[in-house]
Amino acid sequence: MPVLCSSCADKRAVLKRPKTGHSLCKECFFWAFEEEVHQTIVAAQLFKHGETVGIAASGGKDSTVLAHVMKVLNERYNYGLELMLLSVDEGITGYRDDSLETVKRNQQQYELPLKIVSYEELYGWTMDAIVKQVGLKNNCTFCGVFRRQALDRGAIMLKVDKICTGHNADDVAETVLMNVLRGDIARLRRCTAISTTSEGDGVVPRCKPLKYAYEKEIVLYAYFKKLDYFSTECIYSPNAYRGHARTFLKDLESVRPSSIMDVIHSGENLSVREGVKMPVQGTCSRCGYISSQALCKSCVLLEGLNRGLPKLGIGKHHRLHDKILSQQPLTEKEERKLKSVDF
Ligand code: SF4
Ligand code: ZN
Repeated sequence: MPVLCSSCADKRAVLKRPKTGHSLCKECFFWAFEEEVHQTIVAAQLFKHGETVGIAASGGKDSTVLAHVMKVLNERYNYGLELMLLSVDEGITGYRDDSLETVKRNQQQYELPLKIVSYEELYGWTMDAIVKQVGLKNNCTFCGVFRRQALDRGAIMLKVDKICTGHNADDVAETVLMNVLRGDIARLRRCTAISTTSEGDGVVPRCKPLKYAYEKEIVLYAYFKKLDYFSTECIYSPNAYRGHARTFLKDLESVRPSSIMDVIHSGENLSVREGVKMPVQGTCSRCGYISSQALCKSCVLLEGLNRGLPKLGIGKHHRLHDKILSQQPLTEKEERKLKSVDF
C-alpha cells in the first residue's frame, strides 16, 4: 500500500525527509524546506527591507537552490530585496567554464542580474596557470583566498549591501570539525556564525540562509524541482583534509542522522577561554584589504606567484613581509626555500 504524506494525509509520500524522518509528498516537502529557510532568515534577521543582496552563484546545487529559494521567499514574504547573482570565474578549463554556463541559464530562468568577476582580470592569474606553477597540493589555498576577495570586489562593483552564500549544514559541520582538528581557535569561533558584519572597508557582510539545511535535502529539493544545476567536481580538487572530515561526518550521519546538527550546535556553544591570543585585525599595507599581518594573504600569495616563489604564501613567512613591502631582495637561501614546488 502506498504511504500517505504525513503532513497533508492526502497525497502519496515520495520521500522520507533525512532531517526529520517524515514521509512527505513533493509539495509538502517543498513547503517544509522553504519554510525552514524562511524561519532561519527571520530568526537571525539576515536581511532588511530594501537591501540589495548578491547571491554567490557557482552553478552548483547549493547556490542554485539558494537562488531559487531566495527568489521564492522574497516574493512570498515580501522581503523587499533586490537580488543579484554574483559569480567568480577561477579560470578552470573544463569545470568553471561549464558551470558558468549553468549560472547564465539560471540568470535567464530567475530573471536576475548577473556579474562575473574573474581571477584573471583581478589577479592576472587563472587557476589553470596557478596549478601549472604550484602543482596540485596547495592549489585550493590560492583558490580559497582569492575567491574570498574576489566575491568582495564583485559585490562592491555591484554595490550590494550583503552577499549570501550557499553553505549548508554539512559544510558548516565539516568546517567546525576541521577547525577542531587543526586547533584553529580563531576560525572555530567564527565559523558557525550565520552572518558576518563588515570587518572593514572592502569587506561586504555575508550570510548563510541554508546554514541549517542538510545537503541531502538540498539534493532532493533540486531534483524534485528539476532545477538546472552543474554537478561535476572541480578537476583540481585534492583538498584531502576536508575530504577526510567529510567522510568522517558522513559515516557519523549514517549511524546518527542528527550528527550534523549536533556538531553545529557544539560549535555554536563553544566559548573561548579569556586570555587566549587572537589575531588582531588590521589592513593590508598594499591593497587595503583586512589582514592580521602587514600584507594580506592574497597579496602574499600573488607576490609569490609573480616572483616564481610559490611557497611564499604557504606556511608562515611573516617576517619577510617588511622585505617584500620595501622591495628588498631576498637572500639566496630564502629564495631557494620558497622556490620548491614539492610542498
Ligand atoms: Fe578552487 Fe580547489 Fe575548489 Fe577547485 S576544489 S574550485 S581549485 S578551491
Ligand atoms: Zn593585500
